[in-house]
Amino acid sequence: MAKFKPITFYSKPQSKYQLLPFKYSELDAKRYLLSNIAGEYLAVDKTVLKKFVEHKLDSRSEEYINLRAKHFLLDENNNIALDLLALKVRTRYQSLSNFTSLHIFVVTLRCEHSCPYCQVSRQSEDKKKYDMTYEIADKALDLVFLSPSKTIKIEFQGGEPLLNFDLIKYVVLSAKKINQTHNKFLDFVIATNLALVNKEILNFCKENKVHISTSLDGPKDLHNKNRPRPGKNSYEKTIEGINLSRDLLGRDQVSALMTTTEMSLERVEQIIDEYLDQKFNGIFLRHLSPYGFAIKTKSYMAYSTDRWLNFYKKGIEYIIELNRRGIDFREYYACTVLKKMLTSEDAGFVDLMSPAGIGIAAVVYNYDGTVHPSDESRMLAEMGDKTFCLGNVLENTYEEIFTSEALLKPLEDSFTLSVPMCSDCAYEPYCGSDPVYHHGISKDFIGRKPDSDFCHRNMSIFKYLIIRMEEDNFVKQLFLKWANDT
Ligand code: SF4
Repeated sequence: MAKFKPITFYSKPQSKYQLLPFKYSELDAKRYLLSNIAGEYLAVDKTVLKKFVEHKLDSRSEEYINLRAKHFLLDENNNIALDLLALKVRTRYQSLSNFTSLHIFVVTLRCEHSCPYCQVSRQSEDKKKYDMTYEIADKALDLVFLSPSKTIKIEFQGGEPLLNFDLIKYVVLSAKKINQTHNKFLDFVIATNLALVNKEILNFCKENKVHISTSLDGPKDLHNKNRPRPGKNSYEKTIEGINLSRDLLGRDQVSALMTTTEMSLERVEQIIDEYLDQKFNGIFLRHLSPYGFAIKTKSYMAYSTDRWLNFYKKGIEYIIELNRRGIDFREYYACTVLKKMLTSEDAGFVDLMSPAGIGIAAVVYNYDGTVHPSDESRMLAEMGDKTFCLGNVLENTYEEIFTSEALLKPLEDSFTLSVPMCSDCAYEPYCGSDPVYHHGISKDFIGRKPDSDFCHRNMSIFKYLIIRMEEDNFVKQLFLKWANDT
């Protein structure tokens, strides 16, 4: 007599549909969010998920039809679903073969502002030893053009980069000359507080199509408190600079970024109104990062992630109301996330990439020739932690820098599909990893996600954006527009 029943005894009866790979996480008390590897998502009632995985879902039900349309199941009516999924996944990862497009030149650490939240460990105006030399700039340019990316953006940062404008001119003209043999799409940006801008500088920018990115923290009193400088007139200088830059370069050649300090938290509507008054089409509501002077002056600890999230959500609600009133305005972080949620494209935002965007999306050439895979890792190095330092343009080759363990190890570790908790998280397709942040906080590249502010902040934003789309059709249409227009 046989000890065991035949194998067929244990197999399930043939179901009418087959499950495709997916993950699920709680969305709210009643619903789960399901997502698949291509980033398609569906919010379903908790009871529906149970029926679905038990192969008990009625094929005529609305839930079944939605699950099939979003590639969560396979039946005789959608036998091309696997090919479509594969195509979407390939599109999602296609940017990986095309790295590195953003090359940041820190042309000086000097600055005439003394912002307490400054992330770059600035130096005072007279310390010229903190300027990038022509030799370092030349070597960095050699590396820039070895990058496989067809699109190259060179961004000049500081300190205040206009304090070393002669070097900026040299880099722009040299890059254009080198590019005659490479034919890449070449772009330039100066990230400046605009206090030192003048017509001569802007005429050069106009001739060479150099874009201006500046900082505007909100209304005059808030901006001037956040960004002290001699004369206490940072706001006036910035607005003057924005207007002059727009007059000479064109409106779309000038953008602005804000940083949230504790003083900003109760004033999100006023900050957005300031951006409207200055005729910007949107705003990036940024939180503070734990680097540089932000840590030294404890301004990073000045507010919790939950307080920032309240500020952020209040800001989004205000922007939604503006749009209901016919005012076209958007929030750029939401646009980046929504592009990942609602299209097959990825905006390539460094913090929301897997593997991490460090070195792949951006690389930083510091004033002293050291190379870092992101702005934040350069700031860590300025604070004495050289974990992410990839080498020096004066000593190392392109191959040595871009295949260094200092880059490959955090990239390998930060692939979200293999990170504990992320690998099971339904929000993973929209998320990314920030090994520099986690290393700065917990001395490991991954961090413990239940304790991670990065995880808490992003998961809260993902849930919030999805819930708002689910409950309000106007919001859904608005978010679709943001996802597709940006
Ligand atoms: S960091 Fe958090 S939200 Fe992002 S994928 Fe990992 S677990 Fe999900």
